[in-house]
Amino acid sequence: MTSKPLIAITGASSGIGEATARAFSAAGHPLLLMARRLDRLEALGLPNAVLKKVDVRDRAAIADAVRDAEALHGPVDMMFANAGIARLGDIAKQPPEEWDEMIDINAKGVMNSVHAVLNGMIARKTGTLMMMSSIAGRKVYPDHTVYCGTKYFVHAISESLRAYLAPHDVRVIVLSPGIIDTEVLDHVKDETTLANYKANKAAIGGGISADIVAQLILDAYQLPQRAIVQEIVITPTRQTY
Ligand code: NDP
Repeated sequence: MTSKPLIAITGASSGIGEATARAFSAAGHPLLLMARRLDRLEALGLPNAVLKKVDVRDRAAIADAVRDAEALHGPVDMMFANAGIARLGDIAKQPPEEWDEMIDINAKGVMNSVHAVLNGMIARKTGTLMMMSSIAGRKVYPDHTVYCGTKYFVHAISESLRAYLAPHDVRVIVLSPGIIDTEVLDHVKDETTLANYKANKAAIGGGISADIVAQLILDAYQLPQRAIVQEIVITPTRQTY
């Protein structure tokens, strides 16, 4: 067993989750990395990393993965509920199956991730929940209707969980990035929506690296347990909307 505590990350196979896995690994933490693409988790080649093919819609699979990793590395000290998808599109034309997918992964998947560690953190009177929202969890944007709904959900549950968990010395941090360069828009099918997003992104000089977000997460985590950065809002400097 390594001396630093175990960090669990959902959606660790690309983007912000992957960058965060690398940052915490470099800081000496053992990791539980979860995603559907196991090959991408393996390709990271990180030491002391338990890799699990997990779909966050499967509540039992997350709990099983946490139990297996904790048997090797001790309790999860931070759960980064990061896995998410952005099926942006014109709400009147979008197939409702895409609404379901976002709600199931971005909203219910986050609750499933919290469920796997919540009572352990309460019992130990320590721990951190790092909740992935977005600036789209603070403001609405065109063609983001259900995506914004799921991210407002994350903001709401994070505020509630923070109040509930504060007397137990468990921290709840909500993360609200702007445009970060990742694979998140690779699955948008609405071509007009995608073209508008890309034009807005180009107009502000592009997004910023996931490594910047990962460093902020590490910095916030490393504060003493009695101190909390309640929300992290990080955008490209030119992104003001
Ligand atoms: P990526 O698409 O690069 O990463 C998304 C991650 O989520 C992948 O590792 C993917 O893994 C995982 N994932 C998706 N669906 C599931 C599922 N059902 N079960 C388990 N894992 C899943 O994009 P980002 O890094 O940008 O996205 C990470 C989070 O950041 C998301 O919640 C997103 O909404 C949020 N965000 C992103 C912003 C941006 O501009 N990039 C801005 C604000 C918030 P796999 O496919 O292997 O399962």
